[in-house]
Amino acid sequence: MTSIGLQAAPSLGVPGKKRWAMVVDLRRCIGCMACVAACKAEYDVPLGVWRTTVQVKDTGTYPNARRNFMPRLCNHCDNPPCVRNCPTGATYKHEDGFVLQHYERCIGCRTCIAACPYNARFMLPRNRTRVGINSVVDKCTFCEHRVSQGLVPACVQTCIGRSRIFGDLNDPNSEVARIVATQKTQTLKPELGTRPQVYYIKPDRIATEQVNSAPKSYAARSDAEAFYRHNNGSRFFGGLL
Ligand code: SF4
Repeated sequence: MTSIGLQAAPSLGVPGKKRWAMVVDLRRCIGCMACVAACKAEYDVPLGVWRTTVQVKDTGTYPNARRNFMPRLCNHCDNPPCVRNCPTGATYKHEDGFVLQHYERCIGCRTCIAACPYNARFMLPRNRTRVGINSVVDKCTFCEHRVSQGLVPACVQTCIGRSRIFGDLNDPNSEVARIVATQKTQTLKPELGTRPQVYYIKPDRIATEQVNSAPKSYAARSDAEAFYRHNNGSRFFGGLL
C-alpha cells in the first residue's frame, strides 16, 4: 500500500519490508550511455530532459589524462526534501522506498525541483510522442512498474558493464545488500541528511561534487541540441536548459 501525499516510514532495516536500492560501480562504467538510451525509450522521455544521465569529466593531462563517468538519477532518498516540500502531496514516498509521483496532483509549481539537492527533477515539456502526460514535474522512478513485476529497472537491464546493480537492501542475500555490507560505498551529499539509496563505488570526488544545471554528457549534449532544433523559439523551456 502507498501513502498518498505522505511520507511512508523508511523501510530500511525493517523486517518483512523491502527497501529497493541501487549500487553504481564506477569502476565498471564505460560511458556507453546505453542506460540513458534505455531510460528514454522506457518512458518516452522527451528531448531536452532526462531521468538518468551519465556525466563526463576529464581530469589530468596527456599522457596521464583520465575520463570519469558519473551516472546520475533520483536517489530515492529515505528523507526526501522533495516530498516534504510538495504542497499538494503529488510526490510521495512508497513504503518499499520508491519516491514516486501522482501526476494528476502535480500543479507544476516546481517547488520539488528547487528542493532536490541532486538536480534529479525536471518539467515534462509538451513534445511527447507516445505518452500523454506533460507539463508536470517528472523524474526517475527506479522503474517501479518493472520492479513490481519482478524485473529490474531498464537502465540496470541494459548496462553492459554491470555497473548498475539493483535489489532489495533488506534481503541480506541480495547482491546490493552484500555489496553495501562488504565494500566501501558512498552516497551523494550525505551531510544533507537526505539518506540517498543510490550507493556509489569509487566515486571521483570532483565529479560527485560538481553542480550542473544541465547534465554534461555526449548523449545529453546531442539530445539538447536536437531539442533546440525541434523547438525553435521555445521561450518556456529556454531558461531551463
Ligand atoms: Fe527527491 Fe531529489 Fe532525493 Fe530524488 S534525489 S528523492 S528527487 S530529493
